[in-house]
Amino acid sequence: MDNSIIVALKNIVVDFDGEPILTGLSLDIHDKEFVTLLGPSGCGKTTTLRVIGGFVEPRSGNVFFAGRDITRLPPYKRQVNTVFQKYALFPHLNVFENVAFGLRLQKLDEKEIRSRCLEMLELVGLKGYERRNTAALSGGQQQRVAIARALVNHPKVLLLDEPLGALDLKLRKDMQIELKRIQQSLDITFIYVTHDQEEALTMSDTVVVMNRGDIQQIGSPQDIYNEPNNAFVADFIGESNILDGVMLRDFRVEFAGQEFTCVDAGFGSREIVQVVVRPEDIQVVPAIQGQLTGLVENVIFKGVHYEMHVRQAGYEWIIHSTQASQVGELIGMNIGPDEIHIMHRTQG
Ligand code: ATP
Repeated sequence: MDNSIIVALKNIVVDFDGEPILTGLSLDIHDKEFVTLLGPSGCGKTTTLRVIGGFVEPRSGNVFFAGRDITRLPPYKRQVNTVFQKYALFPHLNVFENVAFGLRLQKLDEKEIRSRCLEMLELVGLKGYERRNTAALSGGQQQRVAIARALVNHPKVLLLDEPLGALDLKLRKDMQIELKRIQQSLDITFIYVTHDQEEALTMSDTVVVMNRGDIQQIGSPQDIYNEPNNAFVADFIGESNILDGVMLRDFRVEFAGQEFTCVDAGFGSREIVQVVVRPEDIQVVPAIQGQLTGLVENVIFKGVHYEMHVRQAGYEWIIHSTQASQVGELIGMNIGPDEIHIMHRTQG
């Protein structure tokens, strides 16, 4: 087995009340990576995390930790800790004692407890807060205490289940950067669950896109964004124009009623495919110069770009452009070969 793999899931099947939740999921997680499980609500992300933590026992399949089968090992014997969305701090203990709690159970000596707790509180930016009552802290600070508490006994892997879900947008963005910094400075594995694609792209070395109890794609944020495996991934990660198409011959594809040059080979001639074009990859030109011609139906200012809804031969396109066209204007749309992502047709 590859030594760099810290957690491996092999053919994990989980049912709840006879309903299949994970349907034979396999996943290798490399040591010291920031890995995100990303997918829509109910796709099985939390369940996957709970299988790794030992809180859910799979009906079949195996969980390995550093090459050892831990499928039947109880949670407290795994070198794994969890941070939940709800911080679950002890309200009657101050910040220091919340972090020290697990170490006290292990009966470590006072000097060791003190130095480890102070080190962790410094790491999460709460130096000087030791004596504070946790109820008097903001949501972001409470979550930092929870993170310090989960890290203080030096787990090899930290599981984080939507830990920023309860924070407002600005704080969430700050904490994303913080979490990445903490993970890098400790050099341990973080496995992070979110349904927020932007959060996943910001923080992760590797993103695991899930849907309906199984994995759709594993890759770097760049891979997932630029080379989605299928229409589900393309649609879930950022906005996309997704159209049915037909391969004509090598490097030619037809969609939206036109023929285009593309770079993807390896599809059969006459194969029905799905074509994905990102909204920012469509070049807006005068109508007469366009490969396609469309009517602008709506223009929305989004700060860094305009989002335009354009009707073209019965298709509704989304285009992101730094220049706004006028509602009612006829525009030309050009799409370069590199911007046409072709994938096998999937259901649903
Ligand atoms: P979310 O983002 O909403 O938390 P998720 O992708 O993390 O979603 P899970 O929490 O893993 O999804 O849940 C997957 C499915 O399993 C859901 O349909 C959920 O209702 C069901 N489920 C989860 N835990 C249990 C349980 N203990 N008993 C019964 N059904 C459960």
